Amino acid sequence: MIEAVDALVIGAGPAGLMAAEELARAGRRVVVCEAKPSPGRKFLMAGKSGLNVTKAEEPSRFAAAFDAGWLGPILAGFGPDQVVDWCRGLGQEVFTGSSGRVFPVAMKASPLLRAWLGRIAGQGVTLRTGWRWNGLDAGTFAFDAGAGPSHLRPRVTVLALGGASWARLGSDGAWAPSLAALGVPITPFRPANMGFGVAWSPHMARHFGQPVKGAALVAGNQRERGEFVLSARGVEGGGIYAVSRALREGASLTLDLFPDLTEAALSSHLSRMRPGTTLANRLRKLGLSPAAAGLVQEFGRAATPALLKALPLPLTGPRPLDEAISTAGGIAASGLTAGLELRALPRVFACGEMLDWEAPTGGYLLTASWATGRWAGIHAARAAQEGSGDAQFS
Ligand SMILES: Cc1cc2nc3c(=O)[nH]c(=O)nc-3n(C[C@H](O)[C@H](O)[C@H](O)COP(=O)(O)OP(=O)(O)OC[C@H]3O[C@@H](n4cnc5c(N)ncnc54)[C@H](O)[C@@H]3O)c2cc1C
Repeated sequence: MIEAVDALVIGAGPAGLMAAEELARAGRRVVVCEAKPSPGRKFLMAGKSGLNVTKAEEPSRFAAAFDAGWLGPILAGFGPDQVVDWCRGLGQEVFTGSSGRVFPVAMKASPLLRAWLGRIAGQGVTLRTGWRWNGLDAGTFAFDAGAGPSHLRPRVTVLALGGASWARLGSDGAWAPSLAALGVPITPFRPANMGFGVAWSPHMARHFGQPVKGAALVAGNQRERGEFVLSARGVEGGGIYAVSRALREGASLTLDLFPDLTEAALSSHLSRMRPGTTLANRLRKLGLSPAAAGLVQEFGRAATPALLKALPLPLTGPRPLDEAISTAGGIAASGLTAGLELRALPRVFACGEMLDWEAPTGGYLLTASWATGRWAGIHAARAAQEGSGDAQFS
């Protein structure tokens, strides 16, 4: 049986729920279909590390963190200030950390998501969980919905299916071949904000799980202060993510383990140590943590000022796509109108991480997911208003 619906949103992550809210605000009757048994699973996972909702930056600086200039007007409509107001509107007070990163005081996603779902339900949005979209079938949207296949014929649709990492939370990127077959240009997925493999010697095992703090990470022309963690798989964490794009594109990684000291100052510290002091003792006396000292012993094998200021950390390559915090690639901007409508599929809009943009961690990912969700919702509502009474593709 084919069911006619007014506005369909597929995917109940931050982008899809925002699109649903905008459509409902414009008076549309909205059905949200989500493959997983519950909504916002990746959003809840983001909450486990504090939920960095945005970055308190002046709008043009914020937009410059993205590799996609076309996002400019979209972020101008919903940027850092609007995210803060929006969180407060859902009863979630926020605070700004010293780095400018903004977090809810609760430091988790569940209270925000609960309040948001409640508000959306109050606006008449219907959420169907366990509904997995499989593609288009004779002009209808075909779903696997537990009891069997179901077909929906909406007036407008917003796709918000996420990127292609952490598939167990729902965003498996399986939509990409279906859309490509329908003429939507797709840039191949690549991991973004990801860890890297390292071929450690067995000596390093005792440092696994330990952070390296206070170093500057240098990749090509980029230099970032940040923390990272050593693991059996390699290196991961904020400092690595910050330079992950340059590393993915071929830069090699060096560490400045004493970013606040010059080589001359380090030289003077080292020259005051007794001759014959072992390497391990030299590194300890310089104040390096066991994990950082372990890196010097692994890859430098000497405590020269030059090595301590530029220690090479050889990487074997990015960790797999599914482990990445986010994905680069997805629907190419050339396949979208300014209103985020798919050029190949009129009255179908797309938003969130399924679009081809990339940004570092720091609240940029969620802000852009919300901003594009809002934008797609607003433009889909307009299209529904302007269209005839006909359903899509009819
Ligand atoms: C560990 C971790 C921590 C993170 N921390 C932060 C952070 O602190 N700050 C930040 O800004 N960002 C963070 N992110 C990134 C952020 O969570 C994502 O960028 C954001 O969730 C993307 O939103 P989205 O709505 O586009 O996609 P998603 O949140 O992935 O939602 C997509 C939804 O679509 C559903 N779906 C997929 N395919 C189908 C289908 N065929 N049919 C029906 N439904 C489907 C999925 O089940 C999912 O619910 C983090 C990510 C991870 C993995």
